[in-house]
Amino acid sequence: MKTLRPIKDLSRGELAQWLQERGEPSYRLDQLEGWLYRHDVASFHDMTNLPKTFREVLLGEFCLFSLEEVAREEALDGTTKFLFSTLDGERVEAVLIPDRDRLTLCVSTQVGCRMGCRFCLTGRQGFRRNLTRGEMLDQVLLVRREVRDQGRELTNVVFMGMGEPLDNYEESLAALRVLISDKGLGFSHRKVTLSTVGLVPQVRRLAREGLDLTLALSLNATDDETRSLLMPINRRYSLEEVVAALRGYPLPPRKRFTLEYVVLEGVNHSPQDARRLARLVEGLRVKVNLIPFNPFPGAEFERPSEREVLEFQAQLRQLGLSTFIRQSRGQEISAACGLLRWRRGA
Ligand code: SF4
Repeated sequence: MKTLRPIKDLSRGELAQWLQERGEPSYRLDQLEGWLYRHDVASFHDMTNLPKTFREVLLGEFCLFSLEEVAREEALDGTTKFLFSTLDGERVEAVLIPDRDRLTLCVSTQVGCRMGCRFCLTGRQGFRRNLTRGEMLDQVLLVRREVRDQGRELTNVVFMGMGEPLDNYEESLAALRVLISDKGLGFSHRKVTLSTVGLVPQVRRLAREGLDLTLALSLNATDDETRSLLMPINRRYSLEEVVAALRGYPLPPRKRFTLEYVVLEGVNHSPQDARRLARLVEGLRVKVNLIPFNPFPGAEFERPSEREVLEFQAQLRQLGLSTFIRQSRGQEISAACGLLRWRRGA
């Protein structure tokens, strides 16, 4: 039996060429992409302005979705974790986070992760494979369809789920371009965030793409010794090199970098950490997101008390850093990154 290719794995150029080879008129590309990215159709049959014979060709050549939902957990605060199966039987997660007037989807870019951060369950599970652009886009499209059925709209997308997006550079960038393109999903670039551990060459490359995305750095420590302990990648790219890469990044006016900082009990939230952090990013436009650690089975770290996190926030604010505490959402579900996949035995 013929293997069907996931259609969203094709770039706009590849799709255009495929259409041209079949003698299709040039407007067919926009029509088709409209169905793929802007209307929520469940099948090629539903693409009603395409000729029936052409829909049959699509059916014989491609599959429309490369993911299928296999589980879902919803927390009392509305945070919903989706577990998807890929065509080759891998499992990936996406998490929908409602917050006042915002509805953010956290997208995975790899099955597992190579970075091995010690406070992260995904990191402990190892790496399986990169996700394709289509698999990343399908996380957004499948959840958007759900959300729209409830009369709501996705407002933000963050590449902050399982995996390191810049370790899967080509596919992550291809998916991001479709997300922010008018011919694609049409998100404002201000509403799309890429989070990285700080792969310096890739951050420099990203700086030259002219994409204008919000960039978040997963920082988590203020000295190399602690950061290398928490994040093995720091042995390759030191804090100084990572921050230098940020300094070379063309940050648009009125935008700031986000520094993600998982607060681990007794590890990284001393007054000295606050002072070092302020010195490290002096002159950079940043906001700091403190994330109290969410323990998972077998974790080596503990969650700090609320008082400790508030104290650290106050110290950072006193030093002039705009600092927020990101409440861990959906704590009664498998909210730690990778936990639903792990619990389902993937
Ligand atoms: S925190 Fe992110 S980069 Fe680090 S291991 Fe987990 S998924 Fe990978």
